[in-house]
Amino acid sequence: MLLLTIVFKGEKEELIYDINEIEERLRNKDIHIGIYKEKEEEFNVLKIFSSDNSDLPKKTMDIIYYNLMEIIYNHIILEFYYMEVDYILNEDYFFLGKEEIEEVKISLFNILTNFQGINDEKSVYFSNRMNEIKEDILNVIKENNLINIHGYLRFRIREIKKKVCLIIDKIIESIMVEKEYDEFIKLLKYFVGMQDNKINKLHIFIDNKGDYIIKDEKENNIMNKFKKESFAEDIAEAVDMEDVIISGLVTSSPKKIIIHGANNCKNKEFINTIENVFESRVTLCDGCEQCRKLLSKNVKNN
Ligand SMILES: [Zn+2]
Repeated sequence: MLLLTIVFKGEKEELIYDINEIEERLRNKDIHIGIYKEKEEEFNVLKIFSSDNSDLPKKTMDIIYYNLMEIIYNHIILEFYYMEVDYILNEDYFFLGKEEIEEVKISLFNILTNFQGINDEKSVYFSNRMNEIKEDILNVIKENNLINIHGYLRFRIREIKKKVCLIIDKIIESIMVEKEYDEFIKLLKYFVGMQDNKINKLHIFIDNKGDYIIKDEKENNIMNKFKKESFAEDIAEAVDMEDVIISGLVTSSPKKIIIHGANNCKNKEFINTIENVFESRVTLCDGCEQCRKLLSKNVKNN
């Protein structure tokens, strides 16, 4: 039974290789397909058969088509990438610098070709855009049992471009956010550099609830001093404590900062920022007498 005919121009050895691989993978699931290659004028034709003469169950058909779609998607998207992306970036994103264009190209290539799995909001967004392209390919091969790779690309190029541009926009957005952050760190470092070291050693304790306690080397709690300095004294709990602490750190420019209970921190960006600004002046405590005291106190409180 003929499942799918794939038509393409030129030699596409990777495509044949990939389909052979699918054949093997399916065989391990006890699904048997055969591949037959022929040439019709300028086109190469791959015919994919089921070795079963009877109709396959719907679930088996779905597995076969899904696997074939993944391969076809990879080839179509690569072809699109090499044909269109330089042009798109130069025409529609002319405001980007040369370095940014390179950065976008690398990210885009990695996203389109070997998607790393869903681990954050951004990758869900990328995955959704690619799945829209994949869904359309899947519908075409299921309905027609035939796909002409170049023809498909020619007819769908606008649609694919729309999705790819959405991905590019998101990549640019995150490059900009990164740049902003770098600028933020650079400025904080600059401010720190202008201050005298008003404190030798400063301890930041983060308790089980993720709350902060700031002490100087004489164990004086200096959180209120920090609040006063950042004009946040009267603004009770609503104030972002992390902002208060960062600005306190910048003005007091401690020679050494020891962070206790970093694992309790609910905002990892906060610790990263301190480390990025104060670099070698920061130590993460991996357990000391004071940590233990703090921990046992919290357990009692609960
Ligand atoms: Zn400690």
